Amino acid sequence: MSEMTHRSKTRPVKVGDLTIGGSNELFIQSMATTKTHDVEATVAEILRLEEAGCQIVRVACPDERAAYAIGAIKERINIPLVVDIHFDYKLALIAIEQGADKIRINPGNIGRREKVEAVVNAAKAKGIPIRIGVNAGSLERKILEKYGYPTAEGMVESALHHIKILEDLDFHDIIVSLKASDVSLAVEAYELASKAFDYPLHLGITESGTLFSGTVKSAAGLGALFAKGIGNTLRVSLSADPVEEVKVAREMLKIFGLSSNAATLISCPTCGRIEIDLISIANEVEEYISHIKAPLKVAVLGCAVNGPGEAREADIGIAGARGEGLLFMHGKTVRKVPEATMVEELKIEIDKLAEAYFEK
Ligand code: SF4
Repeated sequence: MSEMTHRSKTRPVKVGDLTIGGSNELFIQSMATTKTHDVEATVAEILRLEEAGCQIVRVACPDERAAYAIGAIKERINIPLVVDIHFDYKLALIAIEQGADKIRINPGNIGRREKVEAVVNAAKAKGIPIRIGVNAGSLERKILEKYGYPTAEGMVESALHHIKILEDLDFHDIIVSLKASDVSLAVEAYELASKAFDYPLHLGITESGTLFSGTVKSAAGLGALFAKGIGNTLRVSLSADPVEEVKVAREMLKIFGLSSNAATLISCPTCGRIEIDLISIANEVEEYISHIKAPLKVAVLGCAVNGPGEAREADIGIAGARGEGLLFMHGKTVRKVPEATMVEELKIEIDKLAEAYFEK
């Protein structure tokens, strides 16, 4: 078995103005939940996703009304638009003609060779990639019969089958996903895929659940893959407002040091030494820094006993100290601030640091 392909070594594939793969950067993707033919609602949702930090967005394309809406949607959004098509090659052709930045379609499901060629030629002419989406729940019957049930080997075999169809037509702008709702199965499939080919991988644990359980499940699966250097784009799938998917994805990337445009909060778990109302302060500061686009580390600590020293890696922070707070930077106390104003003062200092970061 060959070596794993680290995300920085995958083949670079352009999606709109982004280059997926060939670097250590992972892009955050989400999916609109609106009816795609409802252009107003779809654009409004995508703009909310952009604001939250979404970098690529996918829309469903179940019918011609949806396919013909792509152009109007694209005109009003600022991030690459991926169009999700299941079998119908005509919808793929319309979506491509309308300006889709990528289409998700499995070439093996399109049918006759002329139809596959028509889609591939249209994608080639526009210079857009095709995502092959393998799902453990819908593997080809032939593969299921061979393995008896969905396995990682079967999922990769399915991906290779679709890849070969595209490669035979000299098409190589390919991105692959291998989703499963079983975390171990998904992780194993992505690992095998990273050894089997060097196309960029779109990560996701599908049908992962509600905001709470889905976040934990996605973090477990995607975290294992991030740590191995696997993956080029990701979607956290949640039964929730898709803005939550983006927030969770951003947090995951921050944890692994894979985000260069987001601030991180460090807050203590609190204990009997606590001197301030830490939990509400931590929530307020977390909400505030979610809009900061610089990679700052901000600490909020309940007391000064282990405070500033423990949070030495923080760029800035406050530690509670009997009715007041200690404002500190890089482990050193800068000044005392009254409890009533300490959060506001912290916010002002955060803004200054963020500004200084962008002036550098
Ligand atoms: Fe306890 Fe202070 Fe540590 Fe927070 S920073 S856990 S309050 S000792």
